[in-house]
Amino acid sequence: MMRTHRAGDLRAEHIGAEVVVCGWVAHRRDHGGVVFLDVRDAAGLVQVVVDPEQAGCGDAHRVRNEWVLRVAGPVRPRPEGTVNPDLPTGEIEVGAVSVEVLSESEPPPFPLDDRVDVDEVLRLRHRYLDLRRAPMQRNLRLRADVNRALRESMRAQDFVEVETPLLIASTPEGARDFVVPSRLRPGSFYALPQSPQLFKQLLMVGGLDRYFQIARCARDEDLRADRQFELMQLDVELTFGGQEDVLAAISRAVLAATEAVRPGEGPAEIPRMTWVDAMERYGSDKPDTRFGTLLVELTEVFEATDFKAFAAADAVKGICVEGEGDLARSRLDALTERAVSLGSQGLVWLRVRDGGVLEGPVAKFLSDSEQLGIVDALGARPGDLALLVAGERGMVRDVLGQLRLDLRRPPVWEGLAFTWVLEFPLFEGVDDDGRPIPAHHAFTAPHPDDVEKLESDPLSVRSRSYDLVLNGWELGSGSERIHRPEIQQRVFSLLGLDAQEAQRRFGFLLDAFRFGAPPHAGFAVGMDRFVALLAREENIREVIAFPKTQSGVDPLTNAPRPLDDQQLRELSLKVIGEN
Ligand code: ASP
Repeated sequence: MMRTHRAGDLRAEHIGAEVVVCGWVAHRRDHGGVVFLDVRDAAGLVQVVVDPEQAGCGDAHRVRNEWVLRVAGPVRPRPEGTVNPDLPTGEIEVGAVSVEVLSESEPPPFPLDDRVDVDEVLRLRHRYLDLRRAPMQRNLRLRADVNRALRESMRAQDFVEVETPLLIASTPEGARDFVVPSRLRPGSFYALPQSPQLFKQLLMVGGLDRYFQIARCARDEDLRADRQFELMQLDVELTFGGQEDVLAAISRAVLAATEAVRPGEGPAEIPRMTWVDAMERYGSDKPDTRFGTLLVELTEVFEATDFKAFAAADAVKGICVEGEGDLARSRLDALTERAVSLGSQGLVWLRVRDGGVLEGPVAKFLSDSEQLGIVDALGARPGDLALLVAGERGMVRDVLGQLRLDLRRPPVWEGLAFTWVLEFPLFEGVDDDGRPIPAHHAFTAPHPDDVEKLESDPLSVRSRSYDLVLNGWELGSGSERIHRPEIQQRVFSLLGLDAQEAQRRFGFLLDAFRFGAPPHAGFAVGMDRFVALLAREENIREVIAFPKTQSGVDPLTNAPRPLDDQQLRELSLKVIGEN
């Protein structure tokens, strides 16, 4: 037997037991006569005290940090005054009777002490060392617990786990595809799935009834702290049900996973909001509901205004920033600059004084009743700061929504505020050719009441799609799907795919729909973001074992790399540009 216990599991109850533990040397203190070694394994650290004079312990002087040891000896209480209450094993130590070196280590390129901040690229280049540190150990184990809880919940809800292929044609989810050249068909390429979307819909046509998978997806888009090229999704689809069934199933799974790793902290139920409400009150389709400072409608207050900047505006809205009435002029100028950089003509700021008197460069242009109207609508009190933006409604919402976050948002990992956002529009605008851009994806069903407006007024068509938001991060999206080929064809045409092109790209789906497609709906939860927030991290790389850097590089394996000539020849590829 290699070991009898895990080092970090030893406690006072083991006193007197003869144990064998294996692990890495986390610290060593050589006090001349005795050597103290902290031996670390997956369960934690234990102090080992070695007398190198003793037979079987002769190597103790040579031992260095990160060497791998096998230590045998009795567990004994630490001497009076040396108990460490901060360490779970702090009451005891192992008095070594033998120390066997299993593996030596070069000095590590960075200290593995969790308290030391280490450059991320260096950590990623030696990720195997970084993984030995407690935060990474904790995060990956938490991630495994979340996966397990989700699987159990899905199984309990009769979902069947099905794997879908990695080398596929293409699934449009709004990003660029990663492509893989085919050796056997020179000039042809597979795409990596941006999601299993089309396959899960085919599984529904195939009678699987309820499907899930914790699926790997790849999207070639700009990377950020909350985005990697590769992402894991809890991917779900169900038959003979719609939004309510999906919301119920996903809520149950997500809350079960939350309970598994943050017991007692999740809500009993996830609150809901329509997209219009989210945009109007939070200025965002991923509302951060952990704090107030909501956007307030002021358009009516200025209906008959003489203040030119507001008179012609499509919308006027404001936020009340509590207690910030004395914000320095330089901060206010910076806020104004920020508003302008976000697309506004300017920013009206008003300090709220005693008796509701408003102070600010614009105050003198506002009538008494307008001033009263602002204070009233915002619920502003003396000492508060009112910020107003006027102009095109979408811009007003975006700008104030962003200022609200800039001024008030707590760190993203604080608290757990889930929200369902419902009734997204089907399209989120038009592209350069005037074609509508799907807000979710091309397979999302239009709201049944709006189908007739598809061609005449596409931008006003609501969809049957919904997002899950946590602490202002989009955690996932889903929708009821189109299952009638003629509606799918109409949506494709709006997107500029004529029947022939649609047939070429998605013919297999349209064909499948001709053979009895059941109504179906689904969802996908982004696991990296979900786990990051549960682990109280704001960078998803902290919950991924081997992530890429922000520039898409893996410092450990050096991917991506050029292919050698032989490989290029085999794939019938010629590189025409390089950087
Ligand atoms: N395939 C979608 C996505 O990856 C999710 C869904 O509609 O089920 O965002």
